[in-house]
Amino acid sequence: MPDPAPLPATEAQERILHDLAPLPEVWTALDEALGFGLTSDVLATRTQPPWDNSAMDGYALRSADAVRAPVSLRVVGVVHAGDQPTREVGPGEAIRIMTGAPMPPGADAVIMQERTRALPGEGLGVVELQETVRVRQNVRDAGEDARAGEVLLSAGTVLGIPELALLAGQGLASVRVPRRPRVAIVSTGDELCRPDEEPGGRIVDTNSVALALGVRRAGGTPYVLGIARDRIEDVEALIRQALEYDVVLTSAGASVGEHDHVRPALERLGVAVDFWRVAIRPGKPLAFGRHGRTRVFALPGNPTSSLVTFELFVRPALLRLVGRRAPLPPPVQARSGVDLKKNNQLAHYIRVVLSWQGGEPWADPLPTQTSGAVRSAVSATHLLHFPMDAMSVRRGDPVQLLPVGWGP
Ligand code: AMP
Ligand code: MG
Repeated sequence: MPDPAPLPATEAQERILHDLAPLPEVWTALDEALGFGLTSDVLATRTQPPWDNSAMDGYALRSADAVRAPVSLRVVGVVHAGDQPTREVGPGEAIRIMTGAPMPPGADAVIMQERTRALPGEGLGVVELQETVRVRQNVRDAGEDARAGEVLLSAGTVLGIPELALLAGQGLASVRVPRRPRVAIVSTGDELCRPDEEPGGRIVDTNSVALALGVRRAGGTPYVLGIARDRIEDVEALIRQALEYDVVLTSAGASVGEHDHVRPALERLGVAVDFWRVAIRPGKPLAFGRHGRTRVFALPGNPTSSLVTFELFVRPALLRLVGRRAPLPPPVQARSGVDLKKNNQLAHYIRVVLSWQGGEPWADPLPTQTSGAVRSAVSATHLLHFPMDAMSVRRGDPVQLLPVGWGP
């Protein structure tokens, strides 16, 4: 049976994601949960901040005393952040107050210091207001961050830095999120050696280094299982071990060369292969399949092809496993810095640098676009999407860019 036509990238992404659910939830320390999606609602147990407080350094007063200006009020106290004010502000009185300090009883507004003039007088003296003050002016509400009993963050919320700070404000040390995906990485090829070996005519297996970093950044734990030699028995044995993990990433040996044993090995091992080729460049020989709960990606060997296919297909899958409901990054638009041409029905993903020029975003391709060298990804900020059925793009045309997750 002839091979089916390569799948469009969006269809490949849909097939990968459609039945992929987050992994089982576990209690996870806050500082391990960055980038994960909450599996259940988090309720606030504390009202935070617990009291109305001042947004400014200035004077707390009764707004009824400040409907006209200028007007002078007697200063009867000082309240710093960390103090618990007890002295009430009576009619004709003001209390000097610092940012974040609780509002004293009786006061309903704060005038900022820069709109006042301190005048000498008995005790703490007198303050002259230079403008009128509205009720609640410069007062921050109690519970601006959280009100006890409310849903603070709902299930599905992706935990960024402010979200985690909010949870820490509740005294929480851990949170319910999916466990980390365990990702096995298998390299194949007689020409490869480990990074810590003397090459002696071989090349270093850089794909497993790059893939392991990508896995970690996407919330997974990488397990580099090693290099299989170009014999089907070797490839099969290493992939068999890898099938114990949540996700398997193999690189190289996935096209139709004589030593490309990944596909037959997957078949022998009973991996149900969903598709073998995707209509993209770089990265056309990309396979995806399932074995029980394990998802298997056979990535191309060329270093940049494996990076690009990781971005387009593996990263979204890992993000879904860690609870991200929308794991595909929204594209951004820019103008192409060059003319582009092609004569095939593949979507090209061109490594570009996005920059701001003349008040507009521009995308400039890196000088080398070879997929055989990892250097062709160095300093790329985005992938320019040159669509399947477009054959040319003119300099200045609007193009869609995908941010890459491999940058600094
Ligand atoms: P293959 O798919 O086996 O034909 O490999 C395609 C190209 O990628 C060849 O030039 C390989 O030497 C190179 N390559 C394969 N695996 C790796 C790897 N793990 N790290 C770096 N380069 C690799
Ligand atoms: Mg090979």
